[in-house]
Amino acid sequence: MVTIEFSSRQKKIIQIVKENEPITSEQIANVLNLTRATLRPDLAILTMAGILDARPKVGYFYAGKYQNEAIYNELNKIKTGEIKSVPVVIDEKTSVYDAIVSMFLEDVGTIIVTSEGYLAGVVSRKDFLKSTIGGIDIHKVPVGIIMTRMPNIITTYADETVLEAAKKIIEHEVDSLPVVEKEIREDKEYFKVIGRVSKTNITKLFIEMVGL
Ligand code: ADP
Repeated sequence: MVTIEFSSRQKKIIQIVKENEPITSEQIANVLNLTRATLRPDLAILTMAGILDARPKVGYFYAGKYQNEAIYNELNKIKTGEIKSVPVVIDEKTSVYDAIVSMFLEDVGTIIVTSEGYLAGVVSRKDFLKSTIGGIDIHKVPVGIIMTRMPNIITTYADETVLEAAKKIIEHEVDSLPVVEKEIREDKEYFKVIGRVSKTNITKLFIEMVGL
């Protein structure tokens, strides 16, 4: 794929068309306080590059989005429940030492922590590193002390789309999300852990999508 570096004016034009399509060259020129003649070369470049679509008597449309429509549709159709893996779960009373052993044995980067069977927190590689630097007795301290705890855990539901889950992973800068089911008992919310979705699951999906 050839990537074209657009000028700042061309980028502005793309933005204006995205927000106002269909829009005539005259209207674009008005917004930018320029003449139509000045804009003509920019519009020609953007149309040839397939970013804008010009329809006579109607105006310009943004065409770039259609280049990614197939990927968008696919990620927006597949639910996290379809790509989730089996979660590695330990109880909050487990020692930090045993939790580290589980991380190695199960070959994961994040472990989900529960309290009485419900989601209580998450513990990752970095949490273990921090706790050892902090000099705690990893044989005595329970993992519940060093984990990131509820309600700060970012979760997903089995019927949420992969696109939503991927956005959460990027926005919150985490490697994985517990897939949960909400239960309400005595007006309190509890979350049963039914899986996990990680960057690896999403990367695997990309490989499958292109048929490798
Ligand atoms: P790593 O430690 O390998 O960089 P992460 O980037 O996933 O892994 O974790 C960074 C921090 O975010 C850790 O403190 C971890 O406890 C926390 N964390 C991991 N997953 C989640 C999540 N789904 N919701 C909230 N916090 C999380």
